[in-house]
Amino acid sequence: MDITAYLSATLRALRQARGWSLTQTAEKTGVSKAMLGQIERNESSPTVATLWKIATGLNVPFSVFLEAGEQPERPVFDPQDSDMIVEPLFPHDEQLRFDLFSIKLAPGAISESSPHYSGVVEHVIVIDGQLDLQTQGNWQTLKAGEGLRFAGDKAHSYRNRGAEPVHFHSLIHYP
Ligand code: MN
Repeated sequence: MDITAYLSATLRALRQARGWSLTQTAEKTGVSKAMLGQIERNESSPTVATLWKIATGLNVPFSVFLEAGEQPERPVFDPQDSDMIVEPLFPHDEQLRFDLFSIKLAPGAISESSPHYSGVVEHVIVIDGQLDLQTQGNWQTLKAGEGLRFAGDKAHSYRNRGAEPVHFHSLIHYP
């Protein structure tokens, strides 16, 4: 099963386990019913920001949607028309309350994140390039080797003003 097929099947399974209709899921996630239906049928893949809304509404870690299946290599979430590519550095583990992602943001790209669920703390460490990070209305610029910890349950944005992709790691701590 490829990553988008896995994501589709996981969304449907989590929604049905809760007994939610697509309409109820749209209300809980802030993602439209039409879009949720397309994702479940694997007709379109969500952006990173949309998948975060879905994870938050379902109250599950982001990484539950990303599994490599039978392929030996790590899954890479590289949605169509998205400037943000996410690769989990470790498989999802229910016992550990964190995810660690390797993320690449394209030149000129901005990704706006709605608040993750209450108590989520993010730690961003830049590996290569320069990242602008907006938390609670303040923009800060991080260079390679610099990091920032912030409340992931408030709206925040990632931006790359450079000419090269910026590569950073994001550690998400779940309450
Ligand atoms: Mn975030």
